[in-house]
Amino acid sequence: MAILEVAIPVPLTQTFDYKSEVEVAKGVRVKVPFGCKKVIGIVLAQKDKSNFEKLRSIEEVLDDTPILDQPMLDFLRWSAQYYHHPIGEVISTALPKNLRIGKDAIIKKITGLPNKIEKPGFSITEEQREAIEKISTSLNKYHGFLLHGVTGSGKTEVYLRLAQTVLNQGKQVLVLVPEIGLTPQMIARFESRLSACIVSIHSQLNETQKLDAYLMAKNGSAGVVLGTRSAIFAPMPNLGLIIIDEEHDTSFKQQSSFRYSARDLCFVRAKQANIPVILGTATPSLEMLKQVMDKKITRLVLAQRAGNAILPKINLIDMRTETGVALSAMLVEKMRQHLSNNKQVMLFINRRGYAPVYFCTECSWKSTCEHCDSSMIYHRHINRLKCHHCNDEKMPEQTCPECGKQSLEVFGYGTQRLEETLGSHFVNTPIIRIDRDTTRRKKAFEQHLKQINSGDPCIIVGTQMLAKGHDFSNLAMVGVLDIDGGLLSSNFRGTEYLAQLLIQVSGRAGRSGEQGEVTIQTRYPDHPIFNYVLSNRYTQFASTLLKQRAQAKMPPFSHQVLICANAKIKQNAENFLQEIANLLKNIKMDSVEIWGPVAPVMEKKADYYYFNLYLQSDDRKSLHQMLATLNQHTHTLTLKNKVRWYLDIDPVE
Ligand code: ADP
Ligand code: ZN
Ligand code: ZN
Repeated sequence: MAILEVAIPVPLTQTFDYKSEVEVAKGVRVKVPFGCKKVIGIVLAQKDKSNFEKLRSIEEVLDDTPILDQPMLDFLRWSAQYYHHPIGEVISTALPKNLRIGKDAIIKKITGLPNKIEKPGFSITEEQREAIEKISTSLNKYHGFLLHGVTGSGKTEVYLRLAQTVLNQGKQVLVLVPEIGLTPQMIARFESRLSACIVSIHSQLNETQKLDAYLMAKNGSAGVVLGTRSAIFAPMPNLGLIIIDEEHDTSFKQQSSFRYSARDLCFVRAKQANIPVILGTATPSLEMLKQVMDKKITRLVLAQRAGNAILPKINLIDMRTETGVALSAMLVEKMRQHLSNNKQVMLFINRRGYAPVYFCTECSWKSTCEHCDSSMIYHRHINRLKCHHCNDEKMPEQTCPECGKQSLEVFGYGTQRLEETLGSHFVNTPIIRIDRDTTRRKKAFEQHLKQINSGDPCIIVGTQMLAKGHDFSNLAMVGVLDIDGGLLSSNFRGTEYLAQLLIQVSGRAGRSGEQGEVTIQTRYPDHPIFNYVLSNRYTQFASTLLKQRAQAKMPPFSHQVLICANAKIKQNAENFLQEIANLLKNIKMDSVEIWGPVAPVMEKKADYYYFNLYLQSDDRKSLHQMLATLNQHTHTLTLKNKVRWYLDIDPVE
């Protein structure tokens, strides 16, 4: 008889021991009784004896061969430890749903077979050649490379050539892209260039497709796995290279349940497999720039746009003199010019819906969400007010609930209202709106992209879904509206994110041939960020930010952990964190600073009140030791059953 240590997807840090009549290998799925339920777990180890007396028996062995091999198990264990997250839940995040629920590990339909390969119609630039050469020399060992290339500099070409070299060695390549960067365009580009089987892993696939892709990665038949953040857990026994595109993008951090950073885990996986990792971006995160400063990774620069494309001209429009309008007269005039040259124009506004404010012109009452500290957004086509935080919706009031007058109006602009306003300015020009409301249907986004790629003159209106990775060749101008919120952000990373966004959005303009134009409307034209953004000097801006962070000892010059609690009764959330703070202060770790509890800007969300406690230290080890000690004492917290709480290691929000 054998004793098995099993990881079970429950929010508990420990593992569970079971008896088994037969030997079961590590990494195999087993069905076991748990409480009064049956659950599916993964065997982590065989043991000679258990600390528990009465062991229950496993009910069923689900696999002949392990689902997770030893390196994968090690990687997942490491992740669980680093993020202080239960191993059972970590494993469950890493597996496709069909394996989680016990379906057979069988490929239904082989996909992604090699296509006919096309040769590029250009030769690579000197900068591209140098980058490829440098990375090629360390293909069979661990090394991190920051491929810092301006938008349109041909980073993808560098990935493609290196990927082919690695494939030629019989090895696999993992490519991670941001959530909305994985367009059919990107997949097609890889498929048309690489002689390999390419599978993609992202949320738009159905569960059968996800399982097939997972298993093809696992049996080595997929040469390339192209996916969003969860693809970091794709089993790839012959992994030879990891590429992470748009490294700075925050969608690589999972913001619920198991809060891992796929970007940071890339390094762990690359080290484990002893292979290089390439992080590509036009706007490196301060974290990666710090790694370069510390000589932990190597920065390779592509300073020129590929082909004959040149960087766009960026200018500002001072909106202080243009009250109440979304589009300044100057912006409309510039748009007219480009459209009359048969070019496309894109306007970028980071709010969907019709208008963000529904208010009373008599008494200033404003419609707010009953469940959140936020205002209700008016959606005109359905004539409803919606909360974008909890999805609550209601009919707009006809008369003011405060003063009783019929003086309610909308204020401000979202994508829908902008689309309408544009329609009155540009009667004969097609307007394509791209936001979560117009792309909810699976194929809708693809259809919109197809229309844009036809190259016909049009106005594209979109949210930040549009900021990433798209290559619209006939786009001559980008207008950026309404970014002032980002300048006033309470997040200390606010200006870093805004600069990245502005440069990325600008990068959409003038990708081929003529110089594009970018126009930013703002009420704060004197903000220092514009000194840098207007001249495309992201790197200089980033170094001023790095200096400030170093002085203030903020990340990346220190490490942070967020402990967040939320409860229906506000006091419980705050008091719970105070209990934790007291407990942590007793641990007496001088190198760790403890701040809080503090209420976030949006205190109430979906009827729960939130509080944050921050731990910060320049010594990661002490921080983790402190958390480990905390974990041993959480049972003593008196309010633990009255709150929901989580840890966020290296938080980004
Ligand atoms: P990035 O990923 O850096 O934004 P891309 O790899 O998308 O840039 O390249 C932008 C465009 O330039 C693509 O259409 C690509 O085919 C083209 N391109 C890449 N390298 C070269 C080159 N050496 N010469 C000409 N065109 C190139
Ligand atoms: Zn009123
Ligand atoms: Zn709400």
